[in-house]
Amino acid sequence: MSNNALRETAGRDEHASTDAESTTAVRLAGVTHEYGSGGRRSSDDRTVTALRDVTFDVQTGEIVGLEGPSGSGKSTILHAVSGLLVPSEGSVELLGTDLTNGSERERTRLRRNHVGIVFQRFHLLPSLSARANVALPLVQAGVDRSTRRNRAESLLEQVGLGDRIDHLPGELSGGERQRVAIARALVTDPDVIVADEPTGELDTATGADVLGLLTDIGRDRALLVASHDHSTLGVADRVVTLRDGRVVDRGE
Ligand code: ADP
Ligand code: MG
Repeated sequence: MSNNALRETAGRDEHASTDAESTTAVRLAGVTHEYGSGGRRSSDDRTVTALRDVTFDVQTGEIVGLEGPSGSGKSTILHAVSGLLVPSEGSVELLGTDLTNGSERERTRLRRNHVGIVFQRFHLLPSLSARANVALPLVQAGVDRSTRRNRAESLLEQVGLGDRIDHLPGELSGGERQRVAIARALVTDPDVIVADEPTGELDTATGADVLGLLTDIGRDRALLVASHDHSTLGVADRVVTLRDGRVVDRGE
């Protein structure tokens, strides 16, 4: 299957914009999120306000860093952008569709078709080979087996792991595991990639390699990278700075 065919399978063309200039891939407007409120206010109020009135955009082709100390709300933003959580207030648009309005099913569909996620701790399934881990999102997308294998192998080659295709995650180094995770994030040809502390578990040199790869492959997409590490944020076109769930600098 060609890349074009794969794009159609992934549903990418549905939201394709005719505006060649600048396309807003992600838009957060007035996003506030409280964890643990669950509708009812208890006297020993254990709610945590993780985000407060967060507003910023990411354009297609742009790398935006998300900077802030631990607990400042970076992961919460990435979860909201991926449709993994619906914020208490405000809107989160992915390619012009408001994720906060639709059903969970719709959010899942948008995530699977349009978002690639890279986590700090790789999140690979230990009993599956590198190839099977990379191919997994295509199983959910209903892509046939031989296409899945070909696509996974070609991505593993692109990330420099052509000779590790049948290895299990436990047989790979940290940097190699993160490369597998990057290949998996890209396998559906997503428009948006979110990476949560992607170099957090890696030594400096390996982290730099992995980051170079992510930004290389991520080119032409929208890439949102959360980190508290300045060298990681150095790859960003713009850095949005958070403190206590608030944007204190939009990097513009
Ligand atoms: P960061 O990624 O910048 O470290 P997070 O988005 O993980 O920040 O967390 C922001 C705030 O929300 C923190 O105070 C954190 O303790 C809180 N928080 C995160 N996840 C949950 C959760 N599932 N339940 C309750 N509080 C949470
Ligand atoms: Mg985090």
